[in-house]
Amino acid sequence: MEASSSASSSLRRRAPFKCYCVEKPVLVISWTTDNPGRRFYGCPNYWCKFFQWHDDEICERGEVLIPEQRQRIIKLEAEVARRYKREKFYIVALAFLLVICGICLFNCMAG
Ligand SMILES: [Zn+2]
Repeated sequence: MEASSSASSSLRRRAPFKCYCVEKPVLVISWTTDNPGRRFYGCPNYWCKFFQWHDDEICERGEVLIPEQRQRIIKLEAEVARRYKREKFYIVALAFLLVICGICLFNCMAG
């Protein structure tokens, strides 16, 4: 199941400096259902197929909890973005109304 199951945990924690090609492996986060949030080293070159886990296996509870929390964060971020956009609209509308009020007031006082 895992490429690194034979490696000891101390070996797994160390960053690999070489893969099968000349590139330096990069740390990536897995978002599969079996390994949500688990980090692994992979090669930027797809054809190289270098793969090594960085984190330990995720427990059963984590496999359920992490995707749930992630979905919540994505939903909340979208909500924040939506509210931020609305807030900007209200600020522009308010500024516009203030200008209109200012013009009316100026006209009343002048006339
Ligand atoms: Zn490589």
